[in-house]
Amino acid sequence: MTEQFDIVIAGAGHNSLITAAYLGMAGYSCLVLEARSIIGGDTMTEELTLPGFLHDTCSTTHAIFLQSPVWSKQELPLAEYGLEYIHADPASHVVFPDGTYITQWLDIDRTCEEIAKFSRKDAETYRKMMTEWRSVSPIFNNIRYTPAGWSKPLAEELATHPMGGIWLRRQALSAWDIIHASFEDWHVKSWLLWFAEGTMQPGERPGTGTLAYSFVGGRQRNGWVIPKGGSWSLPQALRRIVEKHGGTILTNQPVNRLILEHGRCVGVETETGEQFRARYAVVSSIHVKHLVDMAPPEAWGETFLYGAETYKPGRSMFVTHYATSEPPLFTVAGGTLPVVGAGVAQTPERQLRISEHFQHGTVGMDAPVLLVLTPSVEDSSRTPAGKHMVKVISVHPYELREGPEQWDTIKTEVAARDLEELRKYAPNLTDEKILAAEIRSPLDLERINRHNWHGSCHGGDLSPAQVETLRPVPGYAQHRMPIPGLYQTGSTTHPGGSVTGGPGRNAAIVLLKDLGRDFHEVVHS
Ligand SMILES: Cc1cc2nc3c(=O)[nH]c(=O)nc-3n(C[C@H](O)[C@H](O)[C@H](O)COP(=O)(O)OP(=O)(O)OC[C@H]3O[C@@H](n4cnc5c(N)ncnc54)[C@H](O)[C@@H]3O)c2cc1C
Repeated sequence: MTEQFDIVIAGAGHNSLITAAYLGMAGYSCLVLEARSIIGGDTMTEELTLPGFLHDTCSTTHAIFLQSPVWSKQELPLAEYGLEYIHADPASHVVFPDGTYITQWLDIDRTCEEIAKFSRKDAETYRKMMTEWRSVSPIFNNIRYTPAGWSKPLAEELATHPMGGIWLRRQALSAWDIIHASFEDWHVKSWLLWFAEGTMQPGERPGTGTLAYSFVGGRQRNGWVIPKGGSWSLPQALRRIVEKHGGTILTNQPVNRLILEHGRCVGVETETGEQFRARYAVVSSIHVKHLVDMAPPEAWGETFLYGAETYKPGRSMFVTHYATSEPPLFTVAGGTLPVVGAGVAQTPERQLRISEHFQHGTVGMDAPVLLVLTPSVEDSSRTPAGKHMVKVISVHPYELREGPEQWDTIKTEVAARDLEELRKYAPNLTDEKILAAEIRSPLDLERINRHNWHGSCHGGDLSPAQVETLRPVPGYAQHRMPIPGLYQTGSTTHPGGSVTGGPGRNAAIVLLKDLGRDFHEVVHS
């Protein structure tokens, strides 16, 4: 391609498309190169089982994105370009091994009644917890949507809040520390731990304290949030905005080399040898583990190479997609309940054992902890009339003792075990109701999206070593890579994984500044 673009962007996940959309709004011509035949990365929706069944290959809920200025302030006119959210109520339904359950409703009084089945005291603690979280969450949200290191330090931000000192301690504790100390009944503890681990961070790890509040609080406030039509509705709306501003998106273009001239990144080369040059900058959402192989080691420097070498993937997911003739109908008092977002929480002890399996490279087949998503309960556009789609997720290591290839041997057995467990609580989901199935092991998830390095579903662990100013590498958290002209976005950058739009927006803020433009002026012009 001889045409030169202002900005060349590698990868078309939602984050890099967001960067492209803001840059396009600012008047820069953008070329986005995507390795796969479809855009969206982990916000893909595909006919994985049968024609007409639109499965979310990876993400389904966009709960955090709802709080982003990208959506909440419509900085990008996504609603105008076709994006719509469904707020499912019940917000969630979580079952326990003794057959009991907690159904969470948008009406907090109803949720508290559910918790009070186990403990009145816990119900009141939950109510208080939700009130406290609501008052402080804008501070944490603001940090998420500000480039790392550009906001005031957390302690200073929290100093303005009446409970600032308490929250400073809470965020440093583990989610489990908080849950275990605040609640008395094991079902309620297990329920809250199940939510806290929803972003694939070990709930017992120090520094996960706010996760005791944020995931469950998001559902309490907004229900189980899903984009109408599937997760790909987000990248599709972004594509329309990028193209409206003159941007070009090309698929089947895996980038495998950065073009450097006089020490500066001036473009990229794809696997076929085709070169694409950028007038001002190259933006990458290539995983940092791959990115470092795309330029000579001396271009990165020792610090960056060390940071990339020691970068860890974190937890990985195991997913089975089903096309069904009925949704799972969970057994509840007086009948059954179909629900978009459901969980099998097991006991807190079982959940806490997940970390041991990651340490030892083993698959825990006893009492699987599950996330069960059935978007078709609320969104009939996803399946042929009267049919449903179910996604069953468990959490298992990519690195098995026998090596990751072992997944190809055991995945059918693991999927069958997960289904067997689900059937204890939704016995209607018999073989006759299952029309087709498709399994995605952690290894498969890496195969379909190279950004899911080592099965990582969030671009890499969000451990204290890889968070905020340390992500992806200390000294390079502000999207500017060691090679001048090269910027990094995507979930390997702050604030990390999940569908947040944060890395994409933050990268746009930094790059626009370097181009002499003010982000807020661009957005409001
Ligand atoms: C199974 C699963 C379930 C999940 N569920 C949820 C959920 O319900 N809610 C939630 O908020 N989050 C969820 N997540 C996490 C979330 O989907 C991701 O963290 C997020 O979508 C990542 O977005 P991204 O734009 O940073 O990267 P990606 O979506 O991974 O996009 C990166 C893109 O870059 C492309 N690319 C990579 N390398 C190259 C290259 N060399 N050349 C060209 N292109 C390249 C990839 O093909 C990909 O399209 C889930 C993840 C998984 C795996």
